[in-house]
Amino acid sequence: MTASLAAGLEPCVHCGFCLQSCPTYLVTGDESDSPRGRIVLLQGLSAGRIDPRDQALTKHLDRCLGCLACEPVCPSGVSYGPALERARHLLTRTRGIPLSVRLVHTVMAERRLGQLLFPVARAARWAAGLFAGRSRFGLALGMLAATRPTRPDTNGKRSPPATDAGCRGTKPAGRAVVLRGCIMDGLFSHVHRATERVLSANGFELVEAPAQVCCGALHTHAGQHDEALALARRNVAAFDALDDDTVIVANAAGCGAMLKEYGRHLAGDPLARRAETLAARVRDVSEVLVERGPRRGASLGLRVAYDPPCHLLHAQGVAREPVAMLDAVDGIERVGHEDADLCCGSAGSYSLAQPALSGAVLTRKIETLLAARPDVVATGNPGCAMQIGAGLLAAGESIPVVHPVEILDWSYERAGFYAG
Ligand code: SF4
Ligand code: SF4
Repeated sequence: MTASLAAGLEPCVHCGFCLQSCPTYLVTGDESDSPRGRIVLLQGLSAGRIDPRDQALTKHLDRCLGCLACEPVCPSGVSYGPALERARHLLTRTRGIPLSVRLVHTVMAERRLGQLLFPVARAARWAAGLFAGRSRFGLALGMLAATRPTRPDTNGKRSPPATDAGCRGTKPAGRAVVLRGCIMDGLFSHVHRATERVLSANGFELVEAPAQVCCGALHTHAGQHDEALALARRNVAAFDALDDDTVIVANAAGCGAMLKEYGRHLAGDPLARRAETLAARVRDVSEVLVERGPRRGASLGLRVAYDPPCHLLHAQGVAREPVAMLDAVDGIERVGHEDADLCCGSAGSYSLAQPALSGAVLTRKIETLLAARPDVVATGNPGCAMQIGAGLLAAGESIPVVHPVEILDWSYERAGFYAG
């Protein structure tokens, strides 16, 4: 880490425009839980005026979700995320991280540990929903239950696939490789399979990068910088083995955001140039499909509430494409919910480390979603799906939470694209 800790924060004029976009400030009302307050703390830490062990500092930096909602609304162009990452690296070196968080991150990074533990979690998730609830343990079980493959009654009138002038159909679209990730591969492999079917139906030739590993996003957010860089280097080597024109398709917003930033993370590293090349090839699945057309499938009768993941909306600036992907499905009624662009409180390991504030942020999200009365909630990040799914179960609701690409997949299946 060579940049000054506070680099990127200099343009802050303390105007406060960012305050109402900050989920933690909206819950606590405390200036130190706002972007403006945290910027003052980060600048004090950087200048040596505040000690990294100061509990007033660590409390408010730990409470930051890292959702980056404060960046796009800032008229001065403050770059908050990298400064927060550098501060968390410094704090983690100074005091370590909670054992529970370290254990989870070790399982994510070590594929062999994941191969041992994920099958157990997959078996347990079918019973976990019975014990989901509002307690800390109940929410954890609800998160596990929310990883189950699920599907609402898609009772729309069956219709033939619509013809779409903008669609290039099954003509060859080039090569694509799906970013597998850790928790996506372990608990959301049904979303990977849906992604692959939809990409194939749109003319993509799928290839594999068998040596790919966890992207390192969870480690970065927790300040485990060295662990994150080690994972990034392994992924650069894994994807380097593919042709340069192979698009790397992410269906997890946090992982996609991390890979798109590999050039910055590995700046100064011998792999820096290859990391930048890799980052330029990464696309969210919604970006790939909307650029492509996409093919239209059969009609589904569903009310869908789309909840944009912070790491897609704020970190990657991908707002239009997931909505356009859903709009490619006839019969879908998209229902808006208030403050959809506010974080759900998931934020990597945040719900483990900050259960009270995470729960308060989640409560607001669940209230607004329930007011919209959707048949299904769609969101493109595993942490968000688990957090919102747990919140709905705790509220006694069985509304499925799925990835937007799964809805396109159901529409394609209904249209008979996969038959034979
Ligand atoms: S981060 Fe931006 S919006 Fe927030 S107080 Fe500073 S200048 Fe204003
Ligand atoms: S990253 Fe999110 S939680 Fe943190 S200061 Fe910015 S808006 Fe608030």
